Amino acid sequence: MTKGQALDSGDPLKAFRDRFLIEEPDLIYLDGNSLGRTPITAVERLSRAVKTEWSERLVRGWGEGWIEAPRRLGDKIGQLIGAKPGETLLCDSTSVNFFKLVVGALKARPGRTKIVTDNLNFPSDIYLLQGVIEMLGDSHRLEIVPSLDGLHGARFDGVLDEDTALVTLSHTAFKSGFVYDMAAVTSAAHQSGALTLWDLSHSVGAVPLDLRHTRADLAVGCTYKYLNGGPGSPAFLYVRDDLQEELKSPIWGWFGQQDPFAFDLQYQPAPGIGRFQAGTPPILSMLTVESGVDLLLEAGMDPIRAKSVLQTDFVIELWREHLEPRGVTLNSPLNSDLRGSHVSLGHSDGMRVDRALIEDMNVIPDFRSPDNIRLGVCPLYTTFEEIERAIERFARVLQDGVHLKYPLEPPAVT
Ligand SMILES: *Cc1c(COP(=O)(O)O)cnc(C)c1O
Repeated sequence: MTKGQALDSGDPLKAFRDRFLIEEPDLIYLDGNSLGRTPITAVERLSRAVKTEWSERLVRGWGEGWIEAPRRLGDKIGQLIGAKPGETLLCDSTSVNFFKLVVGALKARPGRTKIVTDNLNFPSDIYLLQGVIEMLGDSHRLEIVPSLDGLHGARFDGVLDEDTALVTLSHTAFKSGFVYDMAAVTSAAHQSGALTLWDLSHSVGAVPLDLRHTRADLAVGCTYKYLNGGPGSPAFLYVRDDLQEELKSPIWGWFGQQDPFAFDLQYQPAPGIGRFQAGTPPILSMLTVESGVDLLLEAGMDPIRAKSVLQTDFVIELWREHLEPRGVTLNSPLNSDLRGSHVSLGHSDGMRVDRALIEDMNVIPDFRSPDNIRLGVCPLYTTFEEIERAIERFARVLQDGVHLKYPLEPPAVT
């Protein structure tokens, strides 16, 4: 028995793999941090939503559960992030939710002009901040605090002050997988009177979160990554309950109106989290999100995190043995307390190595420039044996130069 097989046999979560539709058992999928696998119940749920709820019930479906879906499913996701009921909403994309909350936050801190983030953040968030600054008349400025080593999070001593309106960070960095201490950063931001907005896209479903106890103000996140909600599934947003009356969405759509079906001509924001909705929710993809979330709730975030740490540690152990001698660097924190559920391995020819893994080795990681090959582990379906085989094949690519036959230009989507 290999070490990977032995670890699998002692794995308390191993039965969860059978709850996913795995069409190609030999394909080693290490990209669930970009698009999670398909829960079997999602297939049934989507089929029921189309065949019964849509086809038979037609417009009556709105009165039979659809209209409540954003809040009901938001509350389920809220259980994964340590929110109270009524603080989380499933709606729109992460980018759109981020936009709504940034504008809401800046308006709630009039007179303060500084927005603080770091250079590990996801570019979409940075673009949105730049766009909001232009939209609000260039009266704010963005301070992008650099990480000292490009891998661990930035330090904000001397950066947060009475002019700071908002501190916004990816809780888990998309390249290195570094995880911020949410409580510490939030408390420092609050000492300066600023609000915090956390992007949980690479954290939710991968690391335990406790927004209530960290006193985080605002958050957004994806459902198609570790929540296995399906391609383009709607995102979520979180607004701490005591801030909900103070913040407004900049998108005054009828779904955020206090009584959409009164068709009144003057907008009045709905009380509570509902005001952050804009228009008609995408019901089919929304209902599919529930299947993945239910699996995570059933397994529990603590066992998931325990397995994730064992698995990313296993990646690093195998990297040391087979890949470090071939010039591959570890581009993620060594300390598992500071690491999410993926490990980035660096190689100067990383893009072509990634391609060879996909096209020649039946292993799917992903590549993030300049040199990161990301190996994402999803404890509900990734096995230790898969990790072992993936690293073996990675070593074989380098040993045989399999990647050298590919051109140096990147493909369109990576
Ligand atoms: C994946 C990801 C997003 C994606 O945003 P979309 O609006 O769904 O495209 C945003 N932020 C972070 C940190 C991400 O990892």
